[in-house]
Amino acid sequence: MARYTAVKGMNDIVPPESYRWMRMEEDLRLIASRLNYEEIRTPIVESLELFQRGLGETSDVVQKEMYVFEDKNGKRLALRPEGTAGVVRAFIEHNLGIERPGPHKFFYIGPNFRYERPQKGRYRQFHQVGFEIFGDPTPEMDAELIYAAMLILDHFKVKGEIRVNSIGCPVCRPAYRERLIAYFRPKIGELCGDCRRRIDINPLRLLDCKADAPRERWSDIPLITESLCPECAADFERLRKALDIFHVPYVLDSFIVRGLDYYVKTAFEITAETGGTQNAVAGGGRYDGLVAATGGAAVPATGFAAGLERLLSVIPADFYAPQPLATGFALFDGGVADLLHFTKHLSHHPVRFMAEYTPRKFKNALQKANKRGARHLFIFGEDEVKNQQVLYKDLVTGDQRLFGQHEIMAIVMMLMEKEVSP
Ligand code: AMP
Repeated sequence: MARYTAVKGMNDIVPPESYRWMRMEEDLRLIASRLNYEEIRTPIVESLELFQRGLGETSDVVQKEMYVFEDKNGKRLALRPEGTAGVVRAFIEHNLGIERPGPHKFFYIGPNFRYERPQKGRYRQFHQVGFEIFGDPTPEMDAELIYAAMLILDHFKVKGEIRVNSIGCPVCRPAYRERLIAYFRPKIGELCGDCRRRIDINPLRLLDCKADAPRERWSDIPLITESLCPECAADFERLRKALDIFHVPYVLDSFIVRGLDYYVKTAFEITAETGGTQNAVAGGGRYDGLVAATGGAAVPATGFAAGLERLLSVIPADFYAPQPLATGFALFDGGVADLLHFTKHLSHHPVRFMAEYTPRKFKNALQKANKRGARHLFIFGEDEVKNQQVLYKDLVTGDQRLFGQHEIMAIVMMLMEKEVSP
């Protein structure tokens, strides 16, 4: 038989790691709803055109990385490479901006697909959490959004660096674009193939090219922050003031860019030490033109997305210690019914309990519990059953004691106490 394996660059999430995923996603949902972001779930498949529109025909994602296919009707579809385009489409399609007054705050969690070269921290199916705010043009709202990103890092005890930039607007960016082209044109022979291609269609992307590392190579590259129009400069100032009020630590970084015209003003990235080369954990910014470009009204918007594989890789290993496992065994046929009752009673409480209903010798039960990494063992032997009791053994300390089978509350309390202080 052929041995099937997962598709290259796409990962299964299996125990014990799936536990960390579940807890991380629970926490993200809690943080999002506490900050009044409402969930939007969109399909994994959208029309190809939506992404071509939303990400721009010239972006790397659209040109090289999308999973595109035709359905049986010949309609061109794509697996979503990111979350914002679908959220914008849903926002317009369901009139969410019309039925309720703004600002509107949404979050999403889910998988995205990009045909990239897989490596540590870079996958073909990866997951993101995204926060989006529609209907507010202020840099203060950008600051609030960045603050939300910081709260997430803080919650997970992740030390990240927040890098902030302004990428201008359709008023000031065209002139900056020309300055960049003029700067790089004479150096074209020194640029990588991608950048040679990008120089005319998307020159800002030259700034964050990993292969060319322009920041390290040239010290006199024109910076956008020197070219901002008065409105963008004033907004950038307001952004920084608001970040200070939120006590968000940040660094200014003129090399953070977005390649698309409807990205304006605030752009930011969060990096953290991931132990690999891929250390960007989150990225975002203001995209005032996107809702209109997708067919909606002129609704200003701002948002960010964080990669969950990368986030999880920087959350401390002991952040989610799994709850200790309790196991239960019967030593003879007559103990099975009591064990069943016990399982039923414990199921109403927040303890992790696993029973096995094949009777076995004590020694074997002990071995099995140890093998499974259990902390607690409950035994229903002949004496115990006769006396309506259960034998408890702490597999770490070796302590043993008897409980009455009906002392469920006392048992649960003991298990929970041992959880906080082992
Ligand atoms: P982007 O949508 O490209 O701005 O990416 C936002 C975040 O998603 C990045 O900072 C990464 O954390 C994560 N990310 C993007 N692409 C991948 C990928 N191929 N594999 C894993 N994580 C990714």
